[in-house]
Amino acid sequence: MILIVGGAGYIGSHVNKALNEAGYETIILDNLSYGHKESIKWGTFVKCDLADVNKVDEIFTKYDITAVMHFSSFIDVGESVTNPEKYYYNNVVNTMNLLHVMLKHDVKKFIFSSTCATYGIPQKIPLVEDHPQNPINPYGMTKLMVEKILHDYDEAYGLKSVILRYFNASGADKTAEIGEWHNPETHLIPLILDAALGKREDIKIFGTDYDTPDGTCIRDYIHVTDLADAHIRSLKYLEDNNESNQFNLGNGLGFSVREVIESVKNVTGRDFKVTETTRREGDPAILIGSSEKANKILGWNPQYTNIDQIVETAWKWHQKLNQE
Ligand code: UDP
Repeated sequence: MILIVGGAGYIGSHVNKALNEAGYETIILDNLSYGHKESIKWGTFVKCDLADVNKVDEIFTKYDITAVMHFSSFIDVGESVTNPEKYYYNNVVNTMNLLHVMLKHDVKKFIFSSTCATYGIPQKIPLVEDHPQNPINPYGMTKLMVEKILHDYDEAYGLKSVILRYFNASGADKTAEIGEWHNPETHLIPLILDAALGKREDIKIFGTDYDTPDGTCIRDYIHVTDLADAHIRSLKYLEDNNESNQFNLGNGLGFSVREVIESVKNVTGRDFKVTETTRREGDPAILIGSSEKANKILGWNPQYTNIDQIVETAWKWHQKLNQE
C-alpha cells in the first residue's frame, strides 16, 4: 500500500486519485488542519498528526506500506517569514518524525514535495536541477533542509527518495470532483477566479515594473493532473530500484500575471476590476523550470501546456466549490 501524507490537500488529493486509477491501494494520513475530508474520495483515511509519532508508528504496524508520498507542509511564504517556528516545526521536524518511523519499519521509498523556492533568485532561466539552491525565505529553507536530510539518510540508511520541485501548481481534475481549495487563498488563479465570480472587488497585480515584456512577473504554471502523473512515474522509478533523484516539475513555459488575467477573462467571459499595485516582497521576476530531466528519466510529458486549458479546469471546479 502507498501512504499519502497530506492526501486531503490540493496536490495530495489529485495524486490519491491517480494512484487509485493506476491500481494502487492508498492510505491517507492527514490532520485536516488545512486539507478537506471531502477531498478524500479514494483509499483508507486515518486522521493523524505527524507530531504524534506513536500513532504514525501504529499505522505502519497495521498496514503493509511499501512507499510514502509526503505532501503535508505549510506553504504560505509570507507567514513563514513572520512565524518561522511554525514552518520549521511542521515542515522539518514532523517530516523527520515520519522518516524515523519509516526507517523503523524498513520502508525505504519516499517521494517528497519540494519547490522551485529552494533555488531562490534564479541565475539562469530555465532553471535546471543543479542550479544553486539559496532560498530567500524560511519556507524554501524548510524544503531545502529536508532535501539535505534525504541525501544523508540515503547515504547512511539506504532510504531512496525522489524529490519533486514543483513550479506553480494550478488547475483542477477535469471532472471537477476535486480541486484547489485553500483557506486562506493566496494563489493567483483562484484569486482571479474569485474576482470573476464577484467574490472580490478586484484582482491586484503585485508589481508592473519588472524586467519582463509586460512588466509583470512570469511564472511556470503546471497542471495538478500533470503533477500527479509525475508522482506515479516517480513511484515506478523507485519500484524499479533506481537511485535517489531530483526533478523539476514545470511546463518549461511562462505566463505573466497579465496573461493569466486575460486568460481568465477569455475562459469565463466575465469582466472584473484589475488594480495595479506595488511589488510583493521576495518575488523573482521570472521563474521557469526546465522539465527536460523529468522527461528524459521519467518519460514525463505535461499535457496541459496552454494557460486557457489550465484555467478552464480551475474555473469548472471553482464554480462548483462556490456553488454558482
Ligand atoms: N500575484 C498577483 N496578485 C495576487 C496574487 C499573486 O499579482 O493577488 C502574482 C505574484 O506576485 C506572482 C504570481 O502572481 O508573481 C504568482 O503568485 P502565486 O502566489 O500564485 O504563486 P508563487 O509564484 O508566489 O508561488
